[in-house]
Amino acid sequence: MKIEIFVFNPIQENTYVVIDETTNKCGIIDAGCRSRMEKVKLKKFIEQNGLTPVALLNTHLHFDHIYGNKFILETFGLKTYASPKDQFFIDTFIDQLNIFQMPADEQAPEIGTKIKEGDVIEIGNIKLQVIETPGHSAGSVCFYAKEQNVCFTGDTIFKQSVGRTDFPTGSQREIMESITGKLLRLPDDTILYPGHGESTDVAWEKLNNPYLEY
Ligand SMILES: [Zn+2]
Repeated sequence: MKIEIFVFNPIQENTYVVIDETTNKCGIIDAGCRSRMEKVKLKKFIEQNGLTPVALLNTHLHFDHIYGNKFILETFGLKTYASPKDQFFIDTFIDQLNIFQMPADEQAPEIGTKIKEGDVIEIGNIKLQVIETPGHSAGSVCFYAKEQNVCFTGDTIFKQSVGRTDFPTGSQREIMESITGKLLRLPDDTILYPGHGESTDVAWEKLNNPYLEY
């Protein structure tokens, strides 16, 4: 597995391209590309490396993580795998952008495949297992590649920080339960790729994350 990281849009969101090198298939996690330049950058990377995108996946449906969903649908014909518990953020996409005073001109596409705890999404030979981690939003999930020791955590946990819970459907109690009850129970050497900022690992967060008390 190879992972290419793009940092997109004014919220500095991490978009991950997860590549199965044996088949050249790839998955796109949280397509945050907003500007034409960002979209071209992502498309060029995929084309120049001869990749075939087979899945678009969303850790959650906040606007900074779904900006590029319409572009991915139009370019590669892919609708996102996401939790239906975040449907609210599709329905109110334009409103959310207005609240944050971001340009709002087009509606976000609907969820393509509704996912839940334990579902497995295949990118060639890579298996991404869905772990429901509510708290940052009701439908927040993480994608765990057990064989590769990697977990894409969205905005649930960051390096030495945790996701905010003051948006609609957020819950402080739930995010702490998701982190301590699920993510910190993954093997210590699991690499965590968050929705913003640098990657980290489970052992490091257990020792250094100031928000965790367990
Ligand atoms: Zn978010």
